[in-house]
Amino acid sequence: MKKRNAILFLGIVSIIILITVQIIILKGVYQGKSEMFNLRYRLFSQDALTFLNRRFSTDGFDTARIMINNYSEKASKEIAAINDSAQLAAKKKDVIFFVEKVLDQEQDLSQFLSDYFERRRIDRNFNHKIVVNYFELIDNDRRIPVYVSEEYSSRRPMRTDTVQRQGPPPGSVFPRDASEILVKADRSETNYYRLDFDYFIDFSNKQKIVMRDTAASLALSIISIIVVVALFLYTFKNLMEEKRLSNLKTDFINNMTHELKTPLSTITVAGKTLLLPQIRENDEKIVETARMISKQSVHLNQLINMILEISMWERTQFQIDKKKVRIEDFLKDIVDSFRSGGGNGATITQKYNFTNPEVDLDTVYITTLLNNLLSNAVKYCDKDPVIDIEGFSQENNIFIKVSDNGIGIGKNDQKHVFDKFYRASTGNIHKYKGLGLGLYYVKKIAEAHGGDVTVSSKPGKGSIFTVTIPY
Ligand code: ADP
Repeated sequence: MKKRNAILFLGIVSIIILITVQIIILKGVYQGKSEMFNLRYRLFSQDALTFLNRRFSTDGFDTARIMINNYSEKASKEIAAINDSAQLAAKKKDVIFFVEKVLDQEQDLSQFLSDYFERRRIDRNFNHKIVVNYFELIDNDRRIPVYVSEEYSSRRPMRTDTVQRQGPPPGSVFPRDASEILVKADRSETNYYRLDFDYFIDFSNKQKIVMRDTAASLALSIISIIVVVALFLYTFKNLMEEKRLSNLKTDFINNMTHELKTPLSTITVAGKTLLLPQIRENDEKIVETARMISKQSVHLNQLINMILEISMWERTQFQIDKKKVRIEDFLKDIVDSFRSGGGNGATITQKYNFTNPEVDLDTVYITTLLNNLLSNAVKYCDKDPVIDIEGFSQENNIFIKVSDNGIGIGKNDQKHVFDKFYRASTGNIHKYKGLGLGLYYVKKIAEAHGGDVTVSSKPGKGSIFTVTIPY
Protein backbone atom coordinates (compact mmCIF):
# COMPACT_ATOMS: atom_id res chain seq x y z
CA MET A 1 0.00 0.00 0.00
CA LYS A 2 2.89 2.32 0.92
CA LYS A 3 4.72 1.50 -2.32
CA ARG A 4 1.52 1.97 -4.32
CA ASN A 5 0.98 5.41 -2.80
CA ALA A 6 4.61 6.38 -3.43
CA ILE A 7 4.37 5.37 -7.12
CA LEU A 8 1.05 7.19 -7.47
CA PHE A 9 2.51 10.29 -5.81
CA LEU A 10 5.66 10.25 -8.00
CA GLY A 11 3.55 9.74 -11.11
CA ILE A 12 1.23 12.64 -10.31
CA VAL A 13 4.19 14.92 -9.47
CA SER A 14 5.90 14.02 -12.78
CA ILE A 15 2.69 14.69 -14.71
CA ILE A 16 2.27 18.07 -12.99
CA ILE A 17 5.92 18.93 -13.85
CA LEU A 18 5.33 17.86 -17.44
CA ILE A 19 2.18 19.99 -17.72
CA THR A 20 4.00 22.99 -16.17
CA VAL A 21 6.92 22.62 -18.59
CA GLN A 22 4.50 22.35 -21.51
CA ILE A 23 2.68 25.50 -20.38
CA ILE A 24 6.00 27.39 -20.10
CA ILE A 25 7.06 26.19 -23.57
CA LEU A 26 3.66 27.10 -25.02
CA LYS A 27 3.85 30.55 -23.45
CA GLY A 28 7.29 31.00 -25.03
CA VAL A 29 5.99 29.85 -28.41
CA TYR A 30 3.03 32.21 -28.12
CA GLN A 31 5.27 35.14 -27.19
CA GLY A 32 7.67 34.29 -30.01
CA LYS A 33 4.84 34.16 -32.54
CA SER A 34 3.42 37.40 -31.17
CA GLU A 35 6.79 39.14 -31.53
CA MET A 36 7.18 37.74 -35.04
CA PHE A 37 3.77 39.15 -35.87
CA ASN A 38 4.76 42.60 -34.57
CA LEU A 39 8.09 42.51 -36.37
CA ARG A 40 6.45 41.55 -39.63
CA TYR A 41 3.91 44.36 -39.46
CA ARG A 42 6.53 46.84 -38.32
CA LEU A 43 8.60 46.01 -41.38
CA PHE A 44 5.55 46.35 -43.61
CA SER A 45 4.74 49.70 -41.98
CA GLN A 46 8.32 50.92 -42.44
CA ASP A 47 8.10 49.90 -46.08
CA ALA A 48 4.85 51.78 -46.42
CA LEU A 49 6.34 54.89 -44.78
CA THR A 50 9.41 54.86 -47.04
CA PHE A 51 7.16 54.51 -50.04
CA LEU A 52 4.96 57.39 -48.83
CA ASN A 53 8.02 59.60 -48.33
CA ARG A 54 9.58 58.80 -51.65
CA ARG A 55 6.43 59.03 -53.70
CA PHE A 56 4.58 61.92 -52.05
CA SER A 57 7.30 63.49 -49.88
CA THR A 58 5.11 63.30 -46.82
CA ASP A 59 4.70 61.22 -43.70
CA GLY A 60 0.95 61.81 -43.51
CA PHE A 61 1.17 64.42 -40.73
CA ASP A 62 1.74 67.60 -42.81
CA THR A 63 -1.77 68.99 -42.37
CA ALA A 64 -1.67 68.27 -38.66
CA ARG A 65 1.66 70.08 -38.26
CA ILE A 66 0.40 73.18 -40.10
CA MET A 67 -2.71 73.27 -37.92
CA ILE A 68 -0.67 72.87 -34.74
CA ASN A 69 1.74 75.60 -35.87
CA ASN A 70 -1.07 78.10 -36.54
CA TYR A 71 -2.77 77.20 -33.29
CA SER A 72 0.51 77.49 -31.31
CA GLU A 73 1.19 80.98 -32.64
CA LYS A 74 -2.15 82.14 -31.31
CA ALA A 75 -2.01 80.13 -28.10
CA SER A 76 1.44 81.27 -27.01
CA LYS A 77 0.27 84.88 -27.21
CA GLU A 78 -2.92 84.09 -25.29
CA ILE A 79 -0.99 82.25 -22.59
CA ALA A 80 1.51 85.09 -22.24
CA ALA A 81 -1.40 87.40 -21.49
CA ILE A 82 -2.89 85.19 -18.73
CA ASN A 83 -1.97 86.10 -15.17
CA ASP A 84 -4.36 83.91 -13.21
CA SER A 85 -2.75 80.52 -12.48
CA ALA A 86 -6.03 78.52 -12.58
CA GLN A 87 -6.88 80.05 -15.93
CA LEU A 88 -3.38 79.22 -17.13
CA ALA A 89 -3.73 75.57 -16.13
CA ALA A 90 -7.07 75.29 -17.94
CA LYS A 91 -5.62 76.83 -21.05
CA LYS A 92 -2.62 74.46 -21.00
CA LYS A 93 -5.04 71.55 -20.85
CA ASP A 94 -6.94 72.88 -23.85
CA VAL A 95 -3.71 73.18 -25.76
CA ILE A 96 -2.65 69.58 -25.19
CA PHE A 97 -6.13 68.28 -26.00
CA PHE A 98 -6.11 70.22 -29.22
CA VAL A 99 -2.68 68.84 -30.23
CA GLU A 100 -3.77 65.27 -29.50
CA LYS A 101 -7.01 65.67 -31.40
CA VAL A 102 -5.38 67.16 -34.48
CA LEU A 103 -2.67 64.48 -34.57
CA ASP A 104 -5.32 61.82 -34.26
CA GLN A 105 -7.84 63.11 -36.77
CA GLU A 106 -5.90 65.14 -39.31
CA GLN A 107 -3.39 62.56 -40.38
CA ASP A 108 -3.41 60.43 -43.55
CA LEU A 109 -0.98 57.76 -42.40
CA SER A 110 -3.65 55.33 -41.13
CA GLN A 111 -5.58 55.43 -44.39
CA PHE A 112 -2.40 54.99 -46.37
CA LEU A 113 -1.26 52.02 -44.24
CA SER A 114 -4.66 50.42 -44.59
CA ASP A 115 -4.55 50.72 -48.40
CA TYR A 116 -0.98 49.47 -48.45
CA PHE A 117 -1.82 46.39 -46.34
CA GLU A 118 -4.80 45.65 -48.53
CA ARG A 119 -2.65 45.78 -51.66
CA ARG A 120 -0.32 43.29 -49.99
CA ARG A 121 -3.29 41.15 -49.00
CA ILE A 122 -2.42 41.12 -45.32
CA ASP A 123 -4.64 41.92 -42.37
CA ARG A 124 -5.77 45.57 -42.31
CA ASN A 125 -7.97 45.52 -39.23
CA PHE A 126 -5.86 47.77 -37.05
CA ASN A 127 -6.45 50.72 -34.76
CA HIS A 128 -3.99 53.54 -34.47
CA LYS A 129 -2.95 55.28 -31.28
CA ILE A 130 -0.98 58.48 -30.85
CA VAL A 131 1.00 59.19 -27.73
CA VAL A 132 2.33 62.72 -27.26
CA ASN A 133 5.57 62.42 -25.34
CA TYR A 134 6.41 66.08 -25.17
CA PHE A 135 4.87 69.38 -26.23
CA GLU A 136 6.13 72.89 -25.72
CA LEU A 137 4.86 76.27 -26.90
CA ILE A 138 7.52 78.82 -27.80
CA ASP A 139 7.27 82.56 -27.53
CA ASN A 140 8.72 83.46 -30.88
CA ASP A 141 10.51 86.64 -29.81
CA ARG A 142 12.21 85.36 -26.70
CA ARG A 143 12.32 81.64 -27.59
CA ILE A 144 11.24 80.75 -24.09
CA PRO A 145 9.03 77.71 -23.54
CA VAL A 146 5.70 78.90 -22.27
CA TYR A 147 4.03 75.60 -22.10
CA VAL A 148 5.33 72.15 -21.21
CA SER A 149 3.00 69.20 -21.01
CA GLU A 150 4.33 67.85 -17.71
CA GLU A 151 1.93 65.01 -17.88
CA TYR A 152 3.59 63.70 -21.04
CA SER A 153 7.14 64.76 -20.46
CA SER A 154 7.47 62.13 -17.77
CA ARG A 155 6.89 59.39 -20.33
CA ARG A 156 9.95 60.13 -22.34
CA PRO A 157 12.35 63.09 -22.28
CA MET A 158 12.55 65.29 -25.32
CA ARG A 159 15.17 63.90 -27.63
CA THR A 160 18.09 66.25 -27.99
CA ASP A 161 19.11 65.38 -31.51
CA THR A 162 17.87 67.94 -33.97
CA VAL A 163 17.66 65.64 -36.97
CA GLN A 164 14.14 64.45 -37.47
CA ARG A 165 14.27 60.71 -37.45
CA GLN A 166 12.10 58.31 -39.38
CA GLY A 167 11.13 55.35 -37.29
CA PRO A 168 11.50 54.61 -33.66
CA PRO A 169 14.64 55.14 -31.60
CA PRO A 170 16.70 52.00 -30.96
CA GLY A 171 15.44 49.72 -28.24
CA SER A 172 11.85 50.81 -28.46
CA VAL A 173 10.47 48.27 -30.89
CA PHE A 174 7.98 46.93 -28.35
CA PRO A 175 7.67 49.99 -26.20
CA ARG A 176 4.52 49.64 -24.13
CA ASP A 177 1.83 47.10 -24.52
CA ALA A 178 3.22 44.07 -26.41
CA SER A 179 0.27 44.26 -28.78
CA GLU A 180 1.20 47.79 -29.95
CA ILE A 181 3.51 48.21 -32.89
CA LEU A 182 5.47 51.44 -33.03
CA VAL A 183 5.35 52.64 -36.62
CA LYS A 184 6.66 56.17 -36.28
CA ALA A 185 8.41 58.18 -33.59
CA ASP A 186 8.35 61.80 -34.62
CA ARG A 187 9.96 65.00 -33.41
CA SER A 188 9.22 68.34 -35.01
CA GLU A 189 10.04 71.93 -34.16
CA THR A 190 8.96 75.31 -35.55
CA ASN A 191 9.12 78.85 -34.21
CA TYR A 192 5.97 78.25 -32.21
CA TYR A 193 6.15 74.74 -30.83
CA ARG A 194 8.27 71.66 -30.19
CA LEU A 195 6.56 68.32 -30.40
CA ASP A 196 7.53 64.69 -29.81
CA PHE A 197 4.97 61.98 -30.43
CA ASP A 198 4.73 58.26 -31.27
CA TYR A 199 2.32 56.62 -33.68
CA PHE A 200 1.31 53.01 -32.85
CA ILE A 201 -0.94 50.50 -34.50
CA ASP A 202 -2.47 47.38 -33.01
CA PHE A 203 -4.45 44.61 -34.66
CA SER A 204 -7.79 43.46 -33.30
CA ASN A 205 -7.34 40.02 -34.91
CA LYS A 206 -3.78 39.60 -33.71
CA GLN A 207 -4.64 37.25 -30.87
CA LYS A 208 -6.70 35.06 -33.19
CA ILE A 209 -3.93 34.96 -35.82
CA VAL A 210 -1.18 34.20 -33.29
CA MET A 211 -3.37 31.58 -31.61
CA ARG A 212 -3.91 29.92 -34.98
CA ASP A 213 -0.15 29.83 -35.52
CA THR A 214 0.34 28.34 -32.04
CA ALA A 215 -2.41 25.73 -32.50
CA ALA A 216 -0.06 23.02 -33.85
CA SER A 217 2.26 23.32 -30.83
CA LEU A 218 -0.75 23.34 -28.49
CA ALA A 219 -2.16 20.19 -30.10
CA LEU A 220 1.24 18.46 -29.86
CA SER A 221 1.53 19.41 -26.18
CA ILE A 222 -1.96 18.13 -25.39
CA ILE A 223 -1.32 14.88 -27.27
CA SER A 224 2.01 14.33 -25.51
CA ILE A 225 0.37 14.96 -22.10
CA ILE A 226 -2.46 12.55 -22.92
CA VAL A 227 0.01 9.88 -24.10
CA VAL A 228 2.15 10.23 -20.97
CA VAL A 229 -0.89 10.13 -18.64
CA ALA A 230 -2.32 7.10 -20.48
CA LEU A 231 1.04 5.33 -20.37
CA PHE A 232 1.38 6.04 -16.67
CA LEU A 233 -2.13 4.77 -15.90
CA TYR A 234 -1.56 1.66 -18.01
CA THR A 235 1.78 0.88 -16.34
CA PHE A 236 0.36 1.60 -12.90
CA LYS A 237 -2.62 -0.69 -13.51
CA ASN A 238 -0.35 -3.48 -14.75
CA LEU A 239 1.93 -3.07 -11.78
CA MET A 240 -0.98 -3.33 -9.37
CA GLU A 241 -2.37 -6.34 -11.22
CA GLU A 242 1.01 -8.06 -11.05
CA LYS A 243 1.24 -7.32 -7.34
CA ARG A 244 -2.25 -8.71 -6.82
CA LEU A 245 -1.36 -11.91 -8.70
CA SER A 246 1.86 -12.34 -6.77
CA ASN A 247 -0.06 -11.93 -3.50
CA LEU A 248 -2.60 -14.49 -4.71
CA LYS A 249 0.20 -16.93 -5.55
CA THR A 250 1.77 -16.53 -2.12
CA ASP A 251 -1.63 -17.11 -0.51
CA PHE A 252 -2.16 -20.13 -2.73
CA ILE A 253 1.13 -21.71 -1.72
CA ASN A 254 0.31 -21.14 1.95
CA ASN A 255 -3.18 -22.59 1.54
CA MET A 256 -1.96 -25.54 -0.51
CA THR A 257 0.69 -26.42 2.05
CA HIS A 258 -2.02 -26.28 4.70
CA GLU A 259 -4.44 -28.38 2.59
CA LEU A 260 -1.85 -31.02 1.77
CA LYS A 261 -0.46 -31.20 5.27
CA THR A 262 -3.77 -32.13 6.92
CA PRO A 263 -4.35 -35.46 5.11
CA LEU A 264 -0.63 -36.22 5.18
CA SER A 265 -0.34 -35.82 8.91
CA THR A 266 -3.50 -37.93 9.39
CA ILE A 267 -1.94 -40.69 7.25
CA THR A 268 1.37 -40.44 9.17
CA VAL A 269 -0.40 -40.73 12.53
CA ALA A 270 -2.57 -43.61 11.24
CA GLY A 271 0.53 -45.41 9.95
CA LYS A 272 2.20 -45.08 13.35
CA THR A 273 -1.00 -46.27 15.04
CA LEU A 274 -1.00 -49.43 12.93
CA LEU A 275 2.43 -50.29 14.31
CA LEU A 276 1.15 -50.32 17.91
CA PRO A 277 0.79 -53.96 19.21
CA GLN A 278 -2.53 -53.27 20.97
CA ILE A 279 -4.05 -52.02 17.71
CA ARG A 280 -2.80 -54.99 15.69
CA GLU A 281 -4.68 -57.29 18.02
CA ASN A 282 -7.93 -55.43 17.37
CA ASP A 283 -9.25 -56.13 13.85
CA GLU A 284 -11.92 -53.46 14.06
CA LYS A 285 -9.35 -50.79 14.85
CA ILE A 286 -7.13 -51.93 11.97
CA VAL A 287 -10.02 -51.64 9.49
CA GLU A 288 -11.03 -48.23 10.85
CA THR A 289 -7.44 -46.92 10.57
CA ALA A 290 -7.03 -48.38 7.09
CA ARG A 291 -10.29 -46.70 6.04
CA MET A 292 -9.03 -43.41 7.38
CA ILE A 293 -5.76 -43.81 5.45
CA SER A 294 -7.66 -44.68 2.30
CA LYS A 295 -10.06 -41.72 2.70
CA GLN A 296 -7.22 -39.26 3.25
CA SER A 297 -5.26 -40.72 0.33
CA VAL A 298 -8.26 -40.23 -1.94
CA HIS A 299 -8.56 -36.63 -0.72
CA LEU A 300 -4.86 -36.08 -1.27
CA ASN A 301 -5.12 -37.57 -4.71
CA GLN A 302 -8.08 -35.33 -5.55
CA LEU A 303 -6.15 -32.25 -4.45
CA ILE A 304 -3.09 -33.15 -6.48
CA ASN A 305 -5.22 -34.02 -9.53
CA MET A 306 -7.01 -30.71 -9.32
CA ILE A 307 -3.73 -28.79 -9.23
CA LEU A 308 -2.29 -30.87 -12.07
CA GLU A 309 -5.40 -30.44 -14.15
CA ILE A 310 -5.44 -26.71 -13.71
CA SER A 311 -1.79 -26.38 -14.62
CA MET A 312 -2.55 -28.48 -17.69
CA TRP A 313 -5.38 -26.14 -18.77
CA GLU A 314 -2.88 -23.34 -18.79
CA ARG A 315 -0.93 -25.07 -21.52
CA THR A 316 -3.57 -26.88 -23.57
CA GLN A 317 -7.10 -26.20 -24.74
CA PHE A 318 -9.73 -27.43 -22.30
CA GLN A 319 -11.17 -30.70 -23.70
CA ILE A 320 -14.73 -31.72 -22.90
CA ASP A 321 -16.48 -34.91 -23.84
CA LYS A 322 -20.22 -34.25 -24.28
CA LYS A 323 -22.94 -36.86 -23.82
CA LYS A 324 -26.71 -36.58 -24.07
CA VAL A 325 -28.25 -36.70 -20.58
CA ARG A 326 -31.71 -36.30 -19.07
CA ILE A 327 -30.85 -33.13 -17.26
CA GLU A 328 -33.29 -33.31 -14.35
CA ASP A 329 -32.36 -36.90 -13.43
CA PHE A 330 -28.70 -36.11 -13.88
CA LEU A 331 -28.82 -33.14 -11.47
CA LYS A 332 -30.90 -35.08 -8.93
CA ASP A 333 -28.31 -37.90 -8.95
CA ILE A 334 -25.49 -35.45 -8.22
CA VAL A 335 -27.42 -33.93 -5.33
CA ASP A 336 -28.22 -37.38 -3.94
CA SER A 337 -24.61 -38.48 -3.97
CA PHE A 338 -23.60 -35.14 -2.43
CA ARG A 339 -26.07 -35.78 0.39
CA SER A 340 -24.91 -39.35 0.93
CA GLY A 341 -21.25 -38.31 0.72
CA GLY A 342 -21.71 -36.21 3.82
CA GLY A 343 -23.56 -33.03 2.82
CA ASN A 344 -22.90 -31.85 6.37
CA GLY A 345 -26.56 -31.96 7.24
CA ALA A 346 -27.50 -29.36 4.66
CA THR A 347 -31.17 -28.99 3.78
CA ILE A 348 -31.35 -29.10 0.00
CA THR A 349 -34.49 -28.30 -1.99
CA GLN A 350 -34.75 -28.76 -5.76
CA LYS A 351 -37.12 -27.23 -8.28
CA TYR A 352 -36.79 -28.05 -11.97
CA ASN A 353 -38.68 -26.82 -14.96
CA PHE A 354 -36.76 -27.79 -18.08
CA THR A 355 -38.63 -27.51 -21.35
CA ASN A 356 -35.93 -29.55 -23.05
CA PRO A 357 -35.46 -32.76 -21.14
CA GLU A 358 -32.16 -33.70 -22.80
CA VAL A 359 -28.92 -31.70 -22.92
CA ASP A 360 -25.42 -32.40 -24.25
CA LEU A 361 -22.95 -32.19 -21.34
CA ASP A 362 -19.65 -33.46 -20.12
CA THR A 363 -21.03 -35.38 -17.17
CA VAL A 364 -17.76 -35.61 -15.27
CA TYR A 365 -17.05 -31.89 -15.42
CA ILE A 366 -20.63 -30.79 -14.72
CA THR A 367 -20.66 -33.12 -11.69
CA THR A 368 -17.50 -31.39 -10.43
CA LEU A 369 -19.08 -27.98 -11.15
CA LEU A 370 -22.21 -28.66 -9.13
CA ASN A 371 -20.26 -30.39 -6.34
CA ASN A 372 -17.99 -27.36 -6.01
CA LEU A 373 -20.99 -25.01 -5.75
CA LEU A 374 -22.70 -27.28 -3.20
CA SER A 375 -19.62 -27.80 -1.04
CA ASN A 376 -18.94 -24.03 -1.05
CA ALA A 377 -22.57 -23.41 0.01
CA VAL A 378 -21.98 -25.69 2.98
CA LYS A 379 -18.43 -24.55 3.70
CA TYR A 380 -19.16 -20.80 3.72
CA CYS A 381 -22.12 -21.05 6.05
CA ASP A 382 -22.09 -20.24 9.75
CA LYS A 383 -25.53 -21.71 10.54
CA ASP A 384 -27.48 -24.80 9.42
CA PRO A 385 -26.99 -24.75 5.65
CA VAL A 386 -30.10 -24.40 3.51
CA ILE A 387 -29.51 -24.77 -0.22
CA ASP A 388 -32.08 -24.20 -2.97
CA ILE A 389 -31.38 -25.55 -6.42
CA GLU A 390 -33.46 -24.27 -9.27
CA GLY A 391 -33.21 -25.38 -12.87
CA PHE A 392 -35.09 -24.11 -15.94
CA SER A 393 -34.74 -23.45 -19.65
CA GLN A 394 -34.89 -20.05 -21.26
CA GLU A 395 -33.92 -18.77 -24.71
CA ASN A 396 -31.92 -21.85 -25.74
CA ASN A 397 -30.09 -21.98 -22.41
CA ILE A 398 -30.44 -24.06 -19.33
CA PHE A 399 -30.05 -22.19 -16.06
CA ILE A 400 -28.90 -23.84 -12.84
CA LYS A 401 -29.23 -21.60 -9.80
CA VAL A 402 -27.67 -22.57 -6.48
CA SER A 403 -28.77 -20.32 -3.60
CA ASP A 404 -27.50 -20.60 -0.04
CA ASN A 405 -27.97 -18.93 3.34
CA GLY A 406 -24.23 -18.60 3.94
CA ILE A 407 -21.95 -15.75 4.92
CA GLY A 408 -22.29 -14.06 1.52
CA ILE A 409 -19.65 -12.27 -0.54
CA GLY A 410 -18.82 -8.53 -0.48
CA LYS A 411 -19.29 -6.43 -3.63
CA ASN A 412 -15.54 -6.11 -4.22
CA ASP A 413 -14.86 -9.81 -3.82
CA GLN A 414 -17.72 -10.74 -6.17
CA LYS A 415 -15.66 -9.32 -9.07
CA HIS A 416 -12.77 -11.70 -8.33
CA VAL A 417 -14.17 -14.93 -6.85
CA PHE A 418 -13.87 -16.67 -10.23
CA ASP A 419 -10.20 -15.68 -10.56
CA LYS A 420 -7.57 -18.34 -10.10
CA PHE A 421 -6.35 -18.64 -6.48
CA TYR A 422 -8.69 -15.89 -5.32
CA ARG A 423 -10.08 -16.18 -1.81
CA ALA A 424 -12.33 -13.52 -0.32
CA SER A 425 -10.35 -11.37 2.06
CA THR A 426 -13.10 -10.57 4.55
CA GLY A 427 -13.42 -12.47 7.76
CA ASN A 428 -11.06 -15.09 9.07
CA ILE A 429 -9.95 -16.83 5.92
CA HIS A 430 -8.23 -19.71 7.71
CA LYS A 431 -11.51 -20.61 9.32
CA TYR A 432 -12.52 -21.92 5.86
CA LYS A 433 -9.96 -24.15 4.19
CA GLY A 434 -9.45 -23.90 0.46
CA LEU A 435 -7.16 -23.15 -2.43
CA GLY A 436 -9.16 -20.52 -4.30
CA LEU A 437 -9.58 -22.88 -7.24
CA GLY A 438 -13.14 -24.22 -6.88
CA LEU A 439 -14.98 -21.34 -8.53
CA TYR A 440 -12.21 -20.86 -11.09
CA TYR A 441 -12.85 -24.46 -12.06
CA VAL A 442 -16.63 -23.82 -12.17
CA LYS A 443 -16.15 -20.89 -14.52
CA LYS A 444 -13.74 -22.78 -16.80
CA ILE A 445 -16.16 -25.71 -17.08
CA ALA A 446 -19.15 -23.43 -17.82
CA GLU A 447 -17.13 -21.57 -20.45
CA ALA A 448 -15.94 -24.82 -22.03
CA HIS A 449 -19.63 -25.63 -22.57
CA GLY A 450 -20.13 -22.21 -24.21
CA GLY A 451 -21.87 -20.87 -21.10
CA ASP A 452 -21.03 -18.75 -18.09
CA VAL A 453 -21.45 -18.39 -14.35
CA THR A 454 -22.42 -15.31 -12.35
CA VAL A 455 -22.82 -14.51 -8.68
CA SER A 456 -25.11 -12.21 -6.76
CA SER A 457 -24.74 -11.99 -3.04
CA LYS A 458 -25.35 -9.98 0.11
CA PRO A 459 -22.88 -10.39 2.96
CA GLY A 460 -24.60 -12.07 5.89
CA LYS A 461 -27.63 -13.06 3.80
CA GLY A 462 -26.31 -15.65 1.35
CA SER A 463 -25.25 -16.06 -2.26
CA ILE A 464 -26.79 -17.14 -5.56
CA PHE A 465 -24.60 -18.71 -8.24
CA THR A 466 -26.21 -18.97 -11.67
CA VAL A 467 -24.73 -21.28 -14.30
CA THR A 468 -25.91 -20.86 -17.89
CA ILE A 469 -25.29 -23.51 -20.52
CA PRO A 470 -26.61 -23.29 -24.08
CA TYR A 471 -28.29 -26.36 -25.56
P1 ADP B 1 -11.92 -21.84 -1.95
O1 ADP B 1 -13.26 -22.27 -1.47
O2 ADP B 1 -10.96 -22.95 -2.09
O3 ADP B 1 -11.37 -20.69 -1.20
P2 ADP B 1 -13.31 -21.05 -4.36
O4 ADP B 1 -12.78 -20.71 -5.71
O5 ADP B 1 -14.29 -22.18 -4.30
O6 ADP B 1 -12.07 -21.29 -3.45
O7 ADP B 1 -14.00 -19.78 -3.80
C1 ADP B 1 -13.36 -18.55 -3.84
C2 ADP B 1 -13.80 -17.67 -2.70
O8 ADP B 1 -15.16 -17.30 -2.91
C3 ADP B 1 -13.79 -18.35 -1.38
O9 ADP B 1 -12.56 -18.15 -0.73
C4 ADP B 1 -14.92 -17.70 -0.61
O10 ADP B 1 -14.44 -16.54 0.04
C5 ADP B 1 -15.87 -17.24 -1.69
N1 ADP B 1 -17.05 -18.12 -1.82
C6 ADP B 1 -17.22 -19.12 -2.70
N2 ADP B 1 -18.44 -19.68 -2.57
C7 ADP B 1 -19.05 -19.02 -1.57
C8 ADP B 1 -20.36 -19.12 -0.93
N3 ADP B 1 -21.27 -20.00 -1.34
N4 ADP B 1 -20.64 -18.23 0.06
C9 ADP B 1 -19.74 -17.32 0.44
N5 ADP B 1 -18.50 -17.18 -0.09
C10 ADP B 1 -18.17 -18.02 -1.09
